[in-house]
Amino acid sequence: QAKQSEKGSVRLFTPTMEAEYLGRLRLEAELGVAFQRNEIFVVYQPIVDVATGAIVSAEALVRWQHPTRGLLSAGAFVPSAEASDIIDELGEYVLRTTCLQMVASGTRLPVAVNLSPRQLRSGRFVSILQRILSDTGLAPELLALEVTESVFMGTGTHLLDQLAAIRAMGVRVVLDDFGTGYSSLTYLRGFDVDGIKIDASFTRDLPHSRKVAAIIRTIGRLASDMNIYVVAEGVETEEQLHWLRGNGIAFAQGFLLGRPDGRLLDGEARTGTTTRRW
Ligand code: C2E
Ligand code: MG
Ligand code: MG
Ligand code: MG
Repeated sequence: QAKQSEKGSVRLFTPTMEAEYLGRLRLEAELGVAFQRNEIFVVYQPIVDVATGAIVSAEALVRWQHPTRGLLSAGAFVPSAEASDIIDELGEYVLRTTCLQMVASGTRLPVAVNLSPRQLRSGRFVSILQRILSDTGLAPELLALEVTESVFMGTGTHLLDQLAAIRAMGVRVVLDDFGTGYSSLTYLRGFDVDGIKIDASFTRDLPHSRKVAAIIRTIGRLASDMNIYVVAEGVETEEQLHWLRGNGIAFAQGFLLGRPDGRLLDGEARTGTTTRRW
């Protein structure tokens, strides 16, 4: 095949593209049956008040108990799903499952679900969300949707209108992986969000990098001036947590504070403290 192309024949796919394409087709087929076989499930990672240690929220993260590849983290299949329409089905499944489990557990803590920009493309997401909330009876105030900055790189107002409609329902919108996009401040100016999550790639360099320390401190100030909340992601060490506590970052998430797992408990039940709502 490679020889053919050297001779000048027209090739639509390089071998890599071909492999990716076949991989995607297989993933779509596999994911389709995975839902029916209950191989897809949701785990929850706590988000903690840095000052008190109380759990104030959680993030829902999707997992796939794959029949041959074992337990897959979101990072191992969500990007491929996002390259195809299967992300709509996956996203809806995660959202519905999370809302059902929240209602069943009786939690009064808000839970955040990741929303792929792709899910906003069909223009049907807002009605899907409405439907899920009314089917499950979950209070919209208990739900947050995490979007990455790439959501703003799409076709502009169409996406922003949907995000505004979501907020108008009382569901929070949070900017995920903050600081990794091309123009983070422009997004903050152009759209109202309820919170921002500082990407783990920044947290990783705490407390030793003075540059990163300055950036995170500034993001914290920015958030507090804008009256939105801020979460540091990827907190793995006591040193990082200590630094965040001393530098005005209210909330944190990371392996130090809790790994994602299947339990979704009420923070009050779990910590025995009164939790502050955000
Ligand atoms: P994210 O939303 O930024 O989620 C945080 C990721 O960091 C999760 O990986 C989590 O397990 C991991 N993590 C948490 N604490 C630590 C830590 O202290 N150290 C390190 N090294 N990692 C930590 P996961 O579950 O593999 O998810 C990866 C990404 O996949 C997520 O990044 C999110 O963008 C996406 N994702 C996850 N679940 C869903 C979903 O249901 N729908 C969509 N559309 N995307 C999802
Ligand atoms: Mg997230
Ligand atoms: Mg993130
Ligand atoms: Mg991320």
